[in-house]
Amino acid sequence: MTLSDASPRTHDALEVLHRVFGYDSFRGEQQQIIEHVAGGGDALVLMPTGGGKSLCYQIPALVRGGTGVVVSPLIALMQDQVDALTALGVRAGFLNSTQGFDERRTVEQLFLAGELDLLYLAPERLRTEGTQRLLDQGEVSLFAIDEAHCVAQWGHDFRPDYLALSMLHERWPKVPRIALTATATPATHAEISSRLGLGEARHFVASFDRPNIQYRIAAKNNPQKQLLELIRSEHEGDAGVVYCLSRASVEKTAAFLVEQGIDAVAYHAGMDAAARAANQSRFLREDGIVVVATIAFGMGIDKPDVRFVAHLDLPKSVEGYYQETGRAGRDGEPATAWLAYGLQDVVQQRKLIEGSEGDEAHRRSQSAHLDAMLALCETVECRRVRLLAYFGQESGPCGNCDTCLTPAESWDGTVAAQKLLSAVWRLARERRQKFGAGQIIDILQGKKTAKVIQFDHDQLSVFGVGADLGTAEWRGVVRQLLALGLLAVEGEYGTLVLTEASGEVLGGRRSVPLRKEKAPAQPRKESGARSGSGKAGRVPVDLPSGAVPVFEALRAWRAATAREQGVPAYVVFHDATLREIATRLPGSVEELSTVNGVGEAKLAKYGEGILEALADTRAAAAATAPAAPADPPPHEEEPPPVPEDLDPPWDDWE
Ligand code: ADP
Ligand code: ZN
Repeated sequence: MTLSDASPRTHDALEVLHRVFGYDSFRGEQQQIIEHVAGGGDALVLMPTGGGKSLCYQIPALVRGGTGVVVSPLIALMQDQVDALTALGVRAGFLNSTQGFDERRTVEQLFLAGELDLLYLAPERLRTEGTQRLLDQGEVSLFAIDEAHCVAQWGHDFRPDYLALSMLHERWPKVPRIALTATATPATHAEISSRLGLGEARHFVASFDRPNIQYRIAAKNNPQKQLLELIRSEHEGDAGVVYCLSRASVEKTAAFLVEQGIDAVAYHAGMDAAARAANQSRFLREDGIVVVATIAFGMGIDKPDVRFVAHLDLPKSVEGYYQETGRAGRDGEPATAWLAYGLQDVVQQRKLIEGSEGDEAHRRSQSAHLDAMLALCETVECRRVRLLAYFGQESGPCGNCDTCLTPAESWDGTVAAQKLLSAVWRLARERRQKFGAGQIIDILQGKKTAKVIQFDHDQLSVFGVGADLGTAEWRGVVRQLLALGLLAVEGEYGTLVLTEASGEVLGGRRSVPLRKEKAPAQPRKESGARSGSGKAGRVPVDLPSGAVPVFEALRAWRAATAREQGVPAYVVFHDATLREIATRLPGSVEELSTVNGVGEAKLAKYGEGILEALADTRAAAAATAPAAPADPPPHEEEPPPVPEDLDPPWDDWE
């Protein structure tokens, strides 16, 4: 569609896109969504992280008269969201519990005077009569319900306050609503639609694929060391998020990384609020910080240049995994999602479910979530195909996940499974004993350990029948049998017991193809300039080598500017924008204005600064040739042993 034959609304939306945001064109279904909402329609938008959801409500709010009210659970991030909009020249404010009376009054006055384009509200605030009266007195252009999956009761981020949002339509029937989320299985999608009364709304469902994210799931042996290797070999100087199950393992992992000279900070709900906020703010504001966190961290973190997300423990569900890994690479550039997974994870998660509060139905649903996650870990097919199938979307092998890059081999594990299951059976039957995986494997391998001798286990007929497999392989067998439901764990010590399905294997009625245990995954093969970036941060892959020093200089300028203004670096400009500037080397303000991501307000604010920084690098380049940076010193120290504590994962929100 060209500008001349566009409807007035399309014209307005495009004009705002160019002038305010500095972008050339809409992405995906943005234009249809924006037109629909700007025209007064309700919408439910399912779009992956980084898909561009914010523009879907920000532009309609700017095109329609009045203030767009954004409901968001992310109190800690409202200030940053408002700062980012202010930097674009958009009039934005927020109301939440962190504010004093005067500050709140000021925002309320601005709203009543019609001087706000966007107003961010926490859901609990919207429930109060005072806030509802306030909204009645001003002019609301639309309601945007961000993180809409929070309304889904069996989802993983349920917020009771979201349930009350069904009243929006009753109280303000004429105001369009747009609900947005980056995570929704077909079931969650249906629940959002019914709970928010969006059955009549238009539903926009984008592909959930994140092609720039490389999904990898590795066998866990020494997770801290494996993590360190990942960072050193592929993500030196990059910003990343490392997820751990417990608070204690968060602390230990962060300390370990710091010892190794990596800029790492910890984040979990047990820390005091000020320390937590300070660490989050460092991660957002500075380049190349690694945050080690429980799942309490991350919702709404819209830092675009997170280059890797690593899980040192198994996530509880595919939805959680998808959402957490989705925080990598919002800018569309290559990013890694890496998960270390082992037998202990399965045992641990099963135990957590067994010991969890809630009724049988709740436990069953948690079990089903875990089973889906285990199936993703154990698959010999493309990870992405599995992941997308979970969200109800079909696709073909992606070529950018570990199983596509180094296909997993399978082997016939039927006999091994029979040996293992019969060892469990004999112990139960002949000795009335139950043991964990370690002892069973020692028996199979014929190891005369103190514990084997103590219990006379060398007298069992299965003693030594499994000497043909190594310990890692046996652990792989146990893990996969657990994942397949052919074996179960029980009780505090995670002892192994048979399931109903075990009988089919023991009776020879079912064969058991297993995935071969792989050597540690190969690092990503890079195509572009990548070397020598060191601590300054990695170089984007598609930057011509001549532009690298300019890009680095622009980053330094951006860091200084962001510090001076107290905003995150990406609020000044994104990497993609700096890269385009470094490649095109604009010589004038007009030329600079045609760069993607340079809108009116930023041009006025930073245009001169950018041109000066460019002139400086030209002068410096003329004077010196860049020297090759030295290699970082090798690190050979053994990391401390893997922490074994079992703090629950459900850190609370404030
Ligand atoms: P989401 O909320 O869906 O995760 P965002 O709204 O944060 O995604 O957008 C992701 C990134 O893409 C942001 O950096 C945003 O500025 C950028 N973006 C969004 N729409 C466009 C567009 N039409 N053209 C260029 N960049 C865009
Ligand atoms: Zn794949």
